[in-house]
Amino acid sequence: MDFSFSDDEQRFDAEVVEYLAQERQHPDADVVFAAHHESHSQLASKPQHKAFMRRLAQRGWLGMSWPREYGGDAHEGLYEYLLNERLSQAGAPLVGKGIGIIGKTIIRHGSDDLRARFLHRIRTAEIDFALGYSEPDAGSDLASLKLRAKRVDGGWELNGQKRFSTSAHFADWYWVAARTNPDAPKHKGITLFLVDLSDPGLTVLEQKTMSDDRTNEVFFDAVFVPDENVVGEVDKGWTYVCEALDYERYTIYTVGALESKMNRIISWAKSTRRSGRPVVDEPEIRSGIAELATDLEVARMLTLRIIDKAARGEVPSNEASMCKLTLTRLHQKMANWMLDHCGPVGVLASGEPGAADEGRWEHSYRATVIETIGGGSSEIQKNILSRRALGLPTL
Ligand SMILES: Cc1cc2nc3c(=O)[nH]c(=O)nc-3n(C[C@H](O)[C@H](O)[C@H](O)COP(=O)(O)OP(=O)(O)OC[C@H]3O[C@@H](n4cnc5c(N)ncnc54)[C@H](O)[C@@H]3O)c2cc1C
Repeated sequence: MDFSFSDDEQRFDAEVVEYLAQERQHPDADVVFAAHHESHSQLASKPQHKAFMRRLAQRGWLGMSWPREYGGDAHEGLYEYLLNERLSQAGAPLVGKGIGIIGKTIIRHGSDDLRARFLHRIRTAEIDFALGYSEPDAGSDLASLKLRAKRVDGGWELNGQKRFSTSAHFADWYWVAARTNPDAPKHKGITLFLVDLSDPGLTVLEQKTMSDDRTNEVFFDAVFVPDENVVGEVDKGWTYVCEALDYERYTIYTVGALESKMNRIISWAKSTRRSGRPVVDEPEIRSGIAELATDLEVARMLTLRIIDKAARGEVPSNEASMCKLTLTRLHQKMANWMLDHCGPVGVLASGEPGAADEGRWEHSYRATVIETIGGGSSEIQKNILSRRALGLPTL
């Protein structure tokens, strides 16, 4: 098995590294490159992030893997992977939902009209999206969702509630799964809609997470969605949602963020002194770092397997679950390990005097719990693997 990159891919990677070094001189760099943020939750929420994404678009780096007829370069997914890895290493927003999830689903299943209205604006970073799947009684068991879409003249009327709709407070469009046929078996009566987030029937309320980030509850009161904003076929939404969740699991979770954490851990161990000697002199510290480095290599290999499969045009479903499980656990393991080994100053938050590594790990400790829940929790990934990959019975 050969996971090495071609000359062209290596040239592209070097170009991205050089470009990001230039971007670090930009007046917006302090906002765009957020060293203290868990990079995969670094959203394009501020004008500076959006401007950065537009500059990436101008270089032709958004939608590289899309077919040429939709404005892409028909490049293998490897180029997007290389770009996202470098972005996450740098703590910048990733090429996210629009390109990786929504765009790809519209290309595969959307009408010509949806393609014409959305794909260009996604590729030029003009519009942002929020994903509206989860509800108070539908998280892991997503097919139980109840948000009701009733047939009306020329379209659908949506009533009900979503929760954990990250980005809904600043995005332009809402990718919503709703129940169109309550009499069908629960996986069959679901349809995907594109909802304009400026619709007056929507109320978006803040939900604060334990890592201080914002997600949202969203209430629908007679929200009208025209027929032309239905994605794919009515009542077939579950298939598209599952496919999009597979894209999500391998577009959002990167090894780059883990690599930059690893570098931080090593420089903390080299630069911190305890009882008159460098921390790195302690055998326990060196042993722990070696173990984390081994885990990191496993994560890298799993990621490359996914990219290899995706490059061959397949949806890497089982691999995506393994990768999500491994990467998010390793984020958590690194944060736990640092809190254990920094001593009392490890639990001081950013801004508090004496906080270890400027409070990086205190925040990471809280944020990395969340990573094991969003996009399908660790338990659900294990269920998927035992059923799909191992053929074990379901309960
Ligand atoms: C910060 C954050 C951002 C999010 N952003 C979005 C978003 O943008 N859009 C969106 O639609 N959703 C989003 N989510 C929702 C996320 O996908 C759900 O939280 C997740 O699917 C779990 O659902 P739940 O919270 O309802 O927990 P539950 O499904 O109630 O699960 C509770 C616990 O039980 C376990 N569990 C559940 N079922 C099983 C089972 N069958 N076997 C074993 N264990 C099980 C779970 O692993 C979990 O530990 C976000 C969540 C968070 C925390």
